[in-house]
Amino acid sequence: MDDNLKMAELLFPDTDKTPADYEQMYPKRSLEEEARVTRFAPSPTGFLHMGSLFAALIGKRTALDSGGVFYLRIEDTDKKREVENGVTGMVEGLKDFGIEIDEGMINESESKGAYAPYIQSQRTPIYHVYVKELVKKGLAYPCFMSEEEIAKVRESQEANKELPGIYGSYAKYRGITPDEAKKRIDNGEEYVVRLLSPGKEDRRISFEDGIKGRIEMPENILDVVLLKKDKTPTYHFAHAVDDHLMRTTDVIRGDEWISSAPIHLQLFEVLGFEPPRYAHIAPLQKEDAETGGKRKLSKRKDPEAAVDYYKRCGYPSEAVIEYLLTIANSNFEEWRMENPDAELEEFKFSLSKMSKAGALFDLAKLNDISKTYISKLSAEEVYDQTLVWAKDNNARLWELLGDDEEYAKAIFAIERGGVKPRKDIAKWEDVEGYVSYFYNEIWDKELDFADNLSPADMIEILELYKDIYKEDETAEEWFPKVREMAVSLGYAKAPKLYKKNPEEYRGHVGDVAGVIRAALTGRRNTPDLYEIMQTLGIEEVNRRFESAIEYLNTKKG
Ligand code: GLU
Repeated sequence: MDDNLKMAELLFPDTDKTPADYEQMYPKRSLEEEARVTRFAPSPTGFLHMGSLFAALIGKRTALDSGGVFYLRIEDTDKKREVENGVTGMVEGLKDFGIEIDEGMINESESKGAYAPYIQSQRTPIYHVYVKELVKKGLAYPCFMSEEEIAKVRESQEANKELPGIYGSYAKYRGITPDEAKKRIDNGEEYVVRLLSPGKEDRRISFEDGIKGRIEMPENILDVVLLKKDKTPTYHFAHAVDDHLMRTTDVIRGDEWISSAPIHLQLFEVLGFEPPRYAHIAPLQKEDAETGGKRKLSKRKDPEAAVDYYKRCGYPSEAVIEYLLTIANSNFEEWRMENPDAELEEFKFSLSKMSKAGALFDLAKLNDISKTYISKLSAEEVYDQTLVWAKDNNARLWELLGDDEEYAKAIFAIERGGVKPRKDIAKWEDVEGYVSYFYNEIWDKELDFADNLSPADMIEILELYKDIYKEDETAEEWFPKVREMAVSLGYAKAPKLYKKNPEEYRGHVGDVAGVIRAALTGRRNTPDLYEIMQTLGIEEVNRRFESAIEYLNTKKG
């Protein structure tokens, strides 16, 4: 038997399949020429970073827009990073944001799709078959170097300013014979399996990155590890085998992998696989308040880096996705302006329109988008979604809203549904503040009166108005009555008039309405006051006028 074959049998005596078997089991997908197969391939850490959700969305849209397939593969070769129920955490995380997968893991142990298993820990036999094949061809070999030996090599390479790593003459076990390998194995020595890199120092490779454009780099010359000591694959090797067998056409991933692309392209070549297209996404950036510059959105420093944050605050997932598309494609905002009511799916997403340097992530902008989104929902939708959020996040609000559904919906209906709905709520967390004065149980009852009128003036207004307001008056009747009263008390009927001749008036109708507003809501700014009064009901309105008058009396001095 030839030495390579002998070595292959020595290292992998138990494989019962060949690459050809797998090629058959996982055939090329029958999709249209332009269809793209993409994937999201997280480690099951349970923690979903905003950047990962962003990448997943890009993968999803690339597949969806081309009539392709988007799948979820769990990369659990690094057991240190794994947490309990980590897979479910990732699956749920995607689901929360409406990113449906066509194939892949659906919980800790189950998957859907014909290219299973979609979790790397269950693919060990497959990796072994492909490494065995490389060993057979003399393109991979067992390496028995100890950690200390490797560290020493690295040290001397650093001292001599050489490329660090195991390659060329540093690859001590290149050319090891099967007999020697057997002796060491029988001796209980541990080993990894390395690629015997065919790369040459003076050669360069180049590829077209879907986001970054043409990239040129030196060819890989490192004998990278394919299988670790525990016989599980490295990311590099699993990536090549999995993305080939799952028939991925486009590998969309973080740009921290760009530097490994020469390794990956070489692996595809030695394995005889057609390489996928690559698109490398730069990390999301954030304005750094301290330096005034930009920096990466950081899991450690920024609570908004965790996808959980948005759920906790109660951002509607559609608004988050809309925002992510805004920063993903520079032409999205223009499209949205031209198509204010279109579904997001109608937008033609394009990898080439993504930022090469990293999109700027900005919560203020997300808030704007989310406010616009929520302003277009019906009162029922706002009610239902707030209730779902409050159930887990604000028990008191949940109870209040649930106790009187009709009242709550009437509150949410205020200034909603017209051509210019109000944009007060960015996330369900804001609702408590927004509705608080409608509920004595949560209202702080601080009355924020403007200071341009004296307490006595304000009492005069409230005393008079509480007898003027009638619950059955219409919106059209309401303001003229306030104005009429204002004029009768010596206030200008319009701010403009007052501004022209301030000495002729005590103030203007806006000041008068402001006193009524503050007495009823505590605030200087609210949605339509008539609608608020109608919603509160006459009894509560009168009660609040009485207590405001009482309060102002204590201020009269
Ligand atoms: N598991 C890798 C990561 O977490 C995936 C990279 C890829 O998409 O290929 O970064």
